[in-house]
Amino acid sequence: MSSVGSGRARTGKAALRPNTMILRRTLILMTMCGVVAFAVLIWKLYDIQIVKHDYYEQLAVEQQTRQSVVTASRGTIYDRNGNVLAMSASVETVFISPYEMNLYKEDKELIASKLSEILGVDKQGILTKMEDTKSWYKTIKTKIESDVAAQVRQFIKENKIKSVHLEPDSKRYYPYGTLASHVLGFVGTENKGLEGLELKYNSYLEGVNGRIIRLKNAKGTDMLFTDFEDYYDAQDGKDVTLTIDSTIQFYVEKYLAQAIKDYDVQNGGACIAVRPTTGEILALASYGNFDPNNYLAISVEKQEELSAITDEEEYSEKLRAARLEQWRNKAIADTYEPGSVFKIITLAMALEENVVSPSDTFYCGGSVPVLGRTTPVKCWRTQGHGSQTLKQAMQHSCNVALVNIGLRVGAEKFYEYVEAFGFFDKTGIDLPGESGSIWWPKKTFEDKKNLSQLAAASFGQTFNITPIQLVMAVSATVNGGKLMKPYIVKEITNPADGTAEVVNQPTVVRQVISENTSRQIREILESIVCEDE
Ligand SMILES: [Zn+2]
Repeated sequence: MSSVGSGRARTGKAALRPNTMILRRTLILMTMCGVVAFAVLIWKLYDIQIVKHDYYEQLAVEQQTRQSVVTASRGTIYDRNGNVLAMSASVETVFISPYEMNLYKEDKELIASKLSEILGVDKQGILTKMEDTKSWYKTIKTKIESDVAAQVRQFIKENKIKSVHLEPDSKRYYPYGTLASHVLGFVGTENKGLEGLELKYNSYLEGVNGRIIRLKNAKGTDMLFTDFEDYYDAQDGKDVTLTIDSTIQFYVEKYLAQAIKDYDVQNGGACIAVRPTTGEILALASYGNFDPNNYLAISVEKQEELSAITDEEEYSEKLRAARLEQWRNKAIADTYEPGSVFKIITLAMALEENVVSPSDTFYCGGSVPVLGRTTPVKCWRTQGHGSQTLKQAMQHSCNVALVNIGLRVGAEKFYEYVEAFGFFDKTGIDLPGESGSIWWPKKTFEDKKNLSQLAAASFGQTFNITPIQLVMAVSATVNGGKLMKPYIVKEITNPADGTAEVVNQPTVVRQVISENTSRQIREILESIVCEDE
């Protein structure tokens, strides 16, 4: 046994030696390969689980869940008396899921032609959207009314279609059409404010969209367990109440349009009604206007003008310009040379500085020489106004008297008052797009050898200001002397319980003239309106 055994063993040893080597080599090789292979695997795992963890997690979540947006209802805009100026109504969006359409092998031709018929959407466009079979969501039409939505539902029900869906959405309505369009602005297709108050107060008005999240299985159908559905309520937008009075706004727009027609005004116009004591804007109009319900439409006259253009590029450029023009709020965004209305400001400075008194007389022979000017400043009445009291000079709107009053104030004081009345600053009204003014540099204005700037400014010429700046300055002359900050939003409230989120209060910018001077100006201005010559 032993010899055999040893013999076997010997034989075995001899035979085993190379085998052992092979095994060892194989093991080494396998270990090496294993290490290398594992290194690749480990690296891959590290990459997937750590480096790209968020990416893959996101993919998994997207694969297992479906989300639907629940649109928040945009807040209502009211005038000061509770009339609705802008409101949102529920509408629906129709969308298809090409993925489901493919999965359930639904009749694309039938769906496309029926949706095209009900919604008035191009059939070929729908068929193209159906080709993207990885997609769960392709919008066919947004903001459809309930009667149209009912037809889509009927079609879905009758044909047991699983790939066509409806979801709630909202649409903005402006019940008074063009009324206060430049104040209100408008809302784009994504329910975001693009102009006016809709833009300025968008963060309050828009609310926060809600979400419905459902878990789904590998086939993409909703799982049966309601536990897997998560619902995040939409938070509706806040309601905004304006200082605007719709009735005053209506009359302001009516007479602005009439005046523009009567005087054949080419570049439009603006009109503002303000409560002088508080700075509340009661009406603010800019002409021409537009209908925020259909803000892309341009006026009939403009349409005719543009229809003559044959070049496509030129046409779209002109169309864009025409839209921007009609949306422009001239009351705050445009500057102009105010002319005679500014005489009230000159009067206020002179009375406050005690350089004139109501008992002074002013002679007008039709013109007045001014240092630095080659020609005298002419009165609008070429034959002159003769001798007149301060009150009469204001009633006559006499340029010559106003130049004399301005010269008595002097350039330095005049410039100080221009600043104090707010003409160098924007008013800070809560509307987007306010412009500043264009004034003489201080040095030029105060040139002692050339008083022509001062003389012209005394009756409102050679500088440019915005209508809102002028309205607020004139308000200061009659309200007891306070420059007020204008505002157009009275309060912002929570639609659920009516609690106020923001309440705007009158803000005094500064006291510009005294209470007594203001009273004198009121008397003079009343006499202009109420007394016959
Ligand atoms: Zn005169």
